[in-house]
Amino acid sequence: MDKTKAIANADAIVVGAGFAGATIARELAERGGMGVAVIERRSHIGGNAYDFYDEQGVLVHAYGPHIFHTNSKRVFDYLSRFTAWREYEHQVLANIYGSFVPVPFNLNSIDASFDPDKAASFKAALLKAYKPGDRVGILDLKDQSDPLLKELSDYVYEHVFLHYTMKQWGQAPEEIDPAVTARVPVLIDTDNRYFQDEYQGMPKDGYTPLFQSLLDCPNIDLYLGLDAAEVIELQMSGDKEAYQAINVGGKQYPGLVIYTGALDELAAWRYGILPYRSLDFIYRRYPTKRVQPAAVVNFTVNEEYTRTTEYSWLTGQDIDVTTVAEEYPLAFTDPAQQIPYYAVSGTDNQAAYDRYLSLFAGLPQFSVLGRLAEYRYYNMDQIVERALELADRLIG
Ligand code: FAD
Ligand code: UDP
Repeated sequence: MDKTKAIANADAIVVGAGFAGATIARELAERGGMGVAVIERRSHIGGNAYDFYDEQGVLVHAYGPHIFHTNSKRVFDYLSRFTAWREYEHQVLANIYGSFVPVPFNLNSIDASFDPDKAASFKAALLKAYKPGDRVGILDLKDQSDPLLKELSDYVYEHVFLHYTMKQWGQAPEEIDPAVTARVPVLIDTDNRYFQDEYQGMPKDGYTPLFQSLLDCPNIDLYLGLDAAEVIELQMSGDKEAYQAINVGGKQYPGLVIYTGALDELAAWRYGILPYRSLDFIYRRYPTKRVQPAAVVNFTVNEEYTRTTEYSWLTGQDIDVTTVAEEYPLAFTDPAQQIPYYAVSGTDNQAAYDRYLSLFAGLPQFSVLGRLAEYRYYNMDQIVERALELADRLIG
């Protein structure tokens, strides 16, 4: 059967085969008993979590380092159906003028950054103001009036947050959504782990096999290398600024459509391109086992790149060569050439996104799901959770 005809006959169309698309497709197919067509424009599944063996045989992540962590038992149990796990707890070091300091900045980071007397006075001041285990956003710490805490927070702001954030977002920490820097709080603790979630790990054989297993279901048909724009046509009503129907193959499509790509793109950038940040990666390959002291090193005071990732730390791959990726953030200006990696959250941008979303309000069969489609800074587990919840609602 012709591709478009087959897609038109599906009970549900899912655009995108990342965590959002693959999870909702599996749920609609397996739990909902629906025939699901998954349309993915890339030549591979997995979305931004896709991994592959590079030219020297190192398992690398094509779109930046992905470490799984969650507090959701539902999400962990769900994904555990499709992968075994390698036990892994992520640690990150900041390179501060050549010294390596644990991030999130914590009580150990204080010891690594100051002489013992100064470190002791900073730690005492922190433990007077906060409880052990507290997580304090850098902007909140900067609000403290105690002179010692002011001195410490100025140091951490300057040496950990300011330059990294300028590189990542093109703006200073106080200019961006505070929730973004709050992802990496100052920890009143000696816990050097980047995440404190209950469940942490890496898919034992990598992310791509996890996705193969998720999508391996008789009711799912996968179309790789196919852009939704080639198949789906949105029909606008004459007088209202809103879509009134979805057509596939020239006919009105009656089934569900779950869209996980960028919503401004689907609406042909009618109101302009939403703000996103993009990334470039430069890979360095070395004929030796390891070249850096942690899986990820954040360059918080210098260099143009934000961080370097040495993949074998994440995957545990035992191999005599190593691959390191340098990560360069940049503005997203050209949808034809660039990938929109991060939505730039903030009130004005949210309003611009909401305007796009309102175009789809008259289409009950249509759902947005995922980091791009919902224009939100979600981690993988949050996306899986949202996909499971959407399935609960759609299947009943
Ligand atoms: P995506 O993975 O982006 O998938 C969307 C898919 O839709 C893509 O494959 C795309 O090609 C396809 N698509 C889009 N438009 C169309 C179209 N028109 N037609 C057909 N297909 C289309 N999360 C963590 O939990 N831990 C981490 O360590 C972590 N690290 C990250 C590092 C980086 C650099 C980035 C950018 C993100 C990181 N994340 C991490 C977040 C994680 O990548 C996302 O939560 C997750 O990938 C979102 O899945 P998704 O399915 O919503 O989107
Ligand atoms: N951040 C920083 N310095 C660091 C780590 C993080 O300034 O060493 C800030 C920066 O603004 C970053 C945000 O905290 O964008 C969130 O960091 P996270 O590691 O969660 O970013 P992601 O891994 O999602 O890119």
